[in-house]
Formats: sequence, C-alpha cells, structure tokens
Amino acid sequence: MQLKITVLEGDGIGPEVTCEAVRTLHAVAALNGHKFDFATGKIGGEAIRQTGSPLPTATLDMCMASDAVLLGAVGSPEFDALPATHRPEAGLLLLRRAMGNYANLRPAIAYEEIASASPLRPEIAAGADILIVRELLGGLYFGEPRGISYDNGNSVATNTMTYSAHEIQRVARVAFDAAMRRKKKVASVDKANVLETSQLWRRIVSEVARDYPDVMLEHLYVDACAMHLIKNPKRFDVILTENLFGDILSDEAAVITGSLGMLGSASIGGEVGLYEPVHGSAPDIVGQGVANPVGAIASAAMLLRYTGKLEQEAKDIEEAISLVLKAGYRTPDIKSPIGGVMASTSEMGQLVIEALAEIADRRYAYHAV
Ligand code: NAD
Repeated sequence: MQLKITVLEGDGIGPEVTCEAVRTLHAVAALNGHKFDFATGKIGGEAIRQTGSPLPTATLDMCMASDAVLLGAVGSPEFDALPATHRPEAGLLLLRRAMGNYANLRPAIAYEEIASASPLRPEIAAGADILIVRELLGGLYFGEPRGISYDNGNSVATNTMTYSAHEIQRVARVAFDAAMRRKKKVASVDKANVLETSQLWRRIVSEVARDYPDVMLEHLYVDACAMHLIKNPKRFDVILTENLFGDILSDEAAVITGSLGMLGSASIGGEVGLYEPVHGSAPDIVGQGVANPVGAIASAAMLLRYTGKLEQEAKDIEEAISLVLKAGYRTPDIKSPIGGVMASTSEMGQLVIEALAEIADRRYAYHAV
C-alpha cells in the first residue's frame, strides 16, 4: 500500500504530538511493507507568522493532492485579539470546508487502565466506548448571515443555523454504517422541542433509519444527552449530531475518558480524509515534553482505517496503545494516584512503537508454528 500523507503540525503542542504519530506510521510501514510518503505544510498561527494567512494556498494545494492529511492543532493566545476570520482557527475551518469532509468521527474510549483519571467514578466511566459522529460543514459554524453590526449605538451579533435534508442524510448514513460495525445503536441528538433545524434533523434521520432495520435508533434532546453522558456513558454506542452540539458533546465525552489528550478523530466524506487529535494546541504545556501523544497516534490509526483501508494495521496501533497503558506508562494528564511510570511525549511514542514490534513478532511466531 502506498499513501501520500500531508502533515500539518500547526501550533502549540501540535508539532510535539504529530512527530510521534508520524514515527508510528513509519514503524507501521516498515513492519508491514507499506510505503508512506510525507510532505509537510504550514497552517494556523505558524502560517500567519510566515505568510499572513492561516491557510496558505500552497498548503491547501498540497492537502488536496494527497491521500490524507494528518494535523496537530491550531491556535495561539498571540492571535486571540484578532477577528475570527483572521485567527489560526480560521485556517482549520477553511481547510475542513475545502476538503468537503462533512462527517467527523470522534471515538471516546474509557480504557479500564486509566479509569482513575476520569472525573467520574471508575465503575461509571470504565469500559465506555462511544463513537460521536458530528456533522462538520453545516449549522451555526457556516450559516449566513453572520457578523456583528451596530444599531443606534447597540452592538448586535448574528449567527445562522441552517440544515438541508441532503446534509442530514449523508452524515446520518455515516453514523448508521458505523453502528452496523459496532453495537448497532444510534442516538440522534437534537433540540427538536425548540429548533426547526432539529425538527428536520429528526425527520430525516428517522427516514434514513428505515434502510438500517438492524440498528436501534433513539432520539434525544441535547440537554438530556449531556446528562446521560455523565450519568451512564456506557448506555451509548454511536451518537449522531449536528455541528455545534457535536463540538460540545464530544469534548464532554472526551473528558469522561480521562483526558482530551487520549482521543483521535477522522473527518471523512470528501476526497481527502483529515485526521487530527480532538485536543487543541494546549499553550499551557507547550515545549515541556509532557503532552500526551496518544490522541495524535490514535488519529494515525484512523487514517490507516478510513483512508488506507488497513484495518489490521489500525487495530495493531490501538492494541499497542492499550499494551502501553496496561504496562503502567503515563503522561502527566493520565497519571494514576497509585503509581505507574511517568513517560514524556517522545517516550510514550517510543513505547507504542516497541509494542507494535512486539505485536508483529507475536503474529510472526504464531504463523511460523
Ligand atoms: P486544549 O485542548 O488546547 O487544552 C485544554 C486542556 O487540556 C489544557 O489544560 C491542556 O493542557 C490539556 N491538554 C490538551 N491536549 C493535551 C494533551 N495532548 N496532553 C495533555 N494535556 C492536554 O483547549 P483550549 O485550552 O481550550 O484551547 C487552546 C487553543 O487551542 C485555543 O487557541 C483554541 O482555539 C485551540 N483549539 C484548537 C483545536 C484544534 O486545532 N482542532 C481544538 C480546540 C482548541
């Protein structure tokens, strides 16, 4: 298998964690005889400093000419005073829109080994395994009109939430397809008691569900979903929701698992997939070697699964992560109150690579017998 991968490290801890994800991909290629070619581009604050734009044309062209994009994170306090369209985050929104990836898949897996890092009691969180499918190109983030105007000395801010049936159908199909490979349950989340967009959402999702008779569908209001996620996260399999609700619920689900640093994501549906950890640029810990690279490495696994169709290699990375956690290695964000071995960002990456080699050896030995 040959893959052309554009790497956008971005800002803050982006370069530190992406480096470990790329090293992991090199290891997978070497162990399995694949050829992954990497090219690097600038995005976010780093791109603004060098070119004045959060998404230079050269970066966008490079992304569109590749099979997949692996991104770190964007955002820096240095640019917080700029208008939204000039900030580093605008580069990511522009990239997502240009790539046409309308479905964002965010798994939230509460590994038993780090249950003590969750703010929930271990018996509530441990074992939760949720896939959040978030609509990524519609809703309030892109709706027009938008902006801030002035009316008789009074400032008025406007954002618009719009959804078409087509936008809902295509992301719903991604969620139902994913549920078919999992526990066959979809919770569709909306605010249909207040919003017309949600009423259309509920109707279209119910129509799509008729094509998936084996999948159990429930509709939940977003406020109820937020509550159930805290009370009993294990009741969920796939959660399907629109852009803004998905942004909020996926962070809530992430924190239940122990740390934002643990989780990867995939944005798919367009011609080129975009893979990135769910966390931001974490300016509070940048440059200290303490960032958890597991979310970036898990994103690399998703890249292999969804773009490369390399399911076994993706599973190997996920098993390698699990082995490292089982062996007690921890970055500070997932430290255990009862011991464990502290590992830096690069040590954690190295441990995952060593676990991958172990998994490959085990498989070789099994076949040799
Ligand atoms: P954040 O995710 O960067 O950090 C939230 C908290 O989680 C911080 O305490 C941070 O130290 C911790 N954290 C995050 N990732 C971690 C990791 N891998 N290992 C250990 N700890 C980790 O969110 P924020 O502080 O709200 O935002 C910081 C900047 O990132 C802002 O500029 C924001 O706009 C941007 N942001 C970017 C993205 C993205 O690139 N997709 C997503 C969210 C926020």
